[in-house]
Amino acid sequence: MSTAAPILLTPGPLTTSTRTRQAMMVDWGSWDSSFNQLTASLCEQLLAIINGADSHYCVPLQGSGTFAVEAAIGTLVPRDGKVLVLINGAYGQRLAKICKVLGRDFSTFETAEDQPTTAADVDRLLREDHSITHVALIHCETSTGILNPLPEIAHVIAQHGKRLIIDAMSSFGALPIDASQVPFDALIAASGKCLEGVPGMGFVFANKQSLAKAEGNSHSLAMDLQDQHAYMVKTGQWRFTPPTHVVAALHEALLQYNEEGGLPARHQRYANNCQVLLDEMAKLGLRSFLPAEIQAPIIVTFHAPKDPRYQFKEFYERVKAKGFILYPGKLTQVETFRVGCIGCVNDDGMKAAVNAVAEVLREMEVLEI
Ligand SMILES: *Cc1c(COP(=O)(O)O)cnc(C)c1O
Repeated sequence: MSTAAPILLTPGPLTTSTRTRQAMMVDWGSWDSSFNQLTASLCEQLLAIINGADSHYCVPLQGSGTFAVEAAIGTLVPRDGKVLVLINGAYGQRLAKICKVLGRDFSTFETAEDQPTTAADVDRLLREDHSITHVALIHCETSTGILNPLPEIAHVIAQHGKRLIIDAMSSFGALPIDASQVPFDALIAASGKCLEGVPGMGFVFANKQSLAKAEGNSHSLAMDLQDQHAYMVKTGQWRFTPPTHVVAALHEALLQYNEEGGLPARHQRYANNCQVLLDEMAKLGLRSFLPAEIQAPIIVTFHAPKDPRYQFKEFYERVKAKGFILYPGKLTQVETFRVGCIGCVNDDGMKAAVNAVAEVLREMEVLEI
């Protein structure tokens, strides 16, 4: 069991249920009406999660999550627009890089990796620079697990009459976001994160008016969400070959999501996973990098043990041999490692993972934590 099917404590790809994996055992014709219905049902269910059916379209896109982020920026930011990118980690940096590569004017505002961006910061920045048209924000910055205060920031942006693009990749489905309360132009997520599907497609909730006005913005054919959406409305089909098995798996994962009790239940399970993880690791002396108030129940960054006998590579391999895949740290200043709380795993799984960590630290004779 342990070598054949490890539990992935990573922020996507993550552990999926047998039922979700089994849904990929069927081949679908991309033009077939059954598959079109599957796509339509998927988009409808996704929109329901954010209460967005009235205000937003769900536009699915082939590829990993970054493809959808790039497509959203390229489609919704006009070529003469300017993006304010809010950064407190690697995914925020990636937003800035996307703007740069796409040739969209942008400025950045960076806080420390353990410092959420505040609504007051955004208010000040928008007062200082009136040429900004869009603000791009990471909801849960997966490089640490920090949660940025989305509703507060969204309201400030709306007060200034600016548009918001949210990378909610690692939070969507687990942390509540209500499109009727939180104004945004685009919210981006993907199949292989908190919905517990397999990786391979992203989706963008695009404001209906903004998407309608976005024709011709995109620099790219394949990444043009306005065109993808228009084609889907006309034909019911994806514009180019869809990731059929990924769609089928996500559809099946959503059935289980709803059976579990939807967002509140998913949030509760992850929050519980996170608390158990923090408590059990604390018993070993392992400290989390973030204070509890800004820790999202998605992924936890831990300080690495100080003992020179600790080496991440060996630690990782030994924990893996016991059936758990951890994640390296992503911080430049501090030596850390990360443990995900998301995926088809519960508190028993988290306890078992921490037991494995404890055994490995003993095996490696890591004494100084
Ligand atoms: C996972 C993730 C992405 C997408 O990464 P891909 O490797 O392209 O799937 C983007 N933003 C955040 C915050 C993420 O957690």
